[in-house]
Amino acid sequence: MTHQAASSRYATMSFQRCGRSGLLLPRVSLGLWHNFGERAPHEVAREMLLGAFDLGITHFDLANNYGPPPGSAEETLGRVLRRDLGPYRDELVVSTKAGYEMWPGPYGNFGSRKYLLSSLDRSLARLGIDYVDVFYHHRPDPETPLEETMGALAQAVRSGKALYAGISNYGAADTRRAVAMLRELGTPCVLHQPAYSMLDRQVERELLSVLASEGVGCIAFSPLARGRRTDRYLGGVPSDSRAAGPSPFLRPSDLTDALLTKVRSLDGIARERGQSLAQLALAWVLRQPAVTSVLIGASRLAQVQDCAAAAGSPPLTAEELRRIDAILGTDG
Ligand code: NDP
Repeated sequence: MTHQAASSRYATMSFQRCGRSGLLLPRVSLGLWHNFGERAPHEVAREMLLGAFDLGITHFDLANNYGPPPGSAEETLGRVLRRDLGPYRDELVVSTKAGYEMWPGPYGNFGSRKYLLSSLDRSLARLGIDYVDVFYHHRPDPETPLEETMGALAQAVRSGKALYAGISNYGAADTRRAVAMLRELGTPCVLHQPAYSMLDRQVERELLSVLASEGVGCIAFSPLARGRRTDRYLGGVPSDSRAAGPSPFLRPSDLTDALLTKVRSLDGIARERGQSLAQLALAWVLRQPAVTSVLIGASRLAQVQDCAAAAGSPPLTAEELRRIDAILGTDG
């Protein structure tokens, strides 16, 4: 069976170039970190992927370790590509990463050439495709020489197993060095993937201006602060939410009264603008000229649809930005 993609799929989504590269990304991209592993219902995952593509979300982001178990999110996308989206491969940007622990022993973690290149081969096998569009180093490795890690990314591109190289979670100084090395190797860094949301504004200090001046794109991960900048928790902790699940990255204890007070105030601004809080939170990240795309997660198609509409949000006014800053305060 092959999915018949909506003929309207490019009608509303807007696209932006990754820095000075030729690669265009949808302003809203979909990540498969949560809710796409073997333990998630496959039909829901499939519905989100197909529904996203129908809305012009052409970019799906993975890592070797997404699941659980690790690797199974790549297998999920592989199944959907085989069954439904295979004929649309050239309309899709599929990324994956290596950098966190993936298999036992000294060669399944961090940033050696040995780890990165074998991990990419395994990712391609799980996805059932010949190449990924972007291959990232997932996090800096304090012990492997950066030259070796960047050399492995360049090799991945030269071999045709990846079309572009990217880095994730690198600080400003390491980013400058990595970008210079990849440029020297003739395989420029097209994309950096840092955390950026109303709850985590660290990139505003230096990284965004480094990326802008180096001509590197920026795709902001967890732009909804894992759900804490949406209306998800306004009425308590739903049993099917991330905070109620086993994820160590979001606990009910993270949903403090102080946080919920801010969420209510931000929700008020969103309502005045005639949009959902998730859409406001995404429009706020996308206001930065250096940000190419926001990389959302979702547990159901309705969330993907709600977030996709943020690409067409009216710009935030200076007064709205001032009010948001006042609500966020110094700690987001
Ligand atoms: P978000 O901050 O977008 O949080 C997603 C969660 O927010 C969803 O699972 C859902 O919660 C809730 N949500 C989403 N849309 C809505 C909506 N419209 N209304 C209400 N609630 C909503 O991102 P993630 O933390 O999931 O990360 C996104 C992607 O970023 C990952 O899949 C991955 O690709 C990438 N990433 C990369 C990292 C890196 O180190 N490079 C690290 C982390 C993420 P619920 O599930 O409760 O319904």
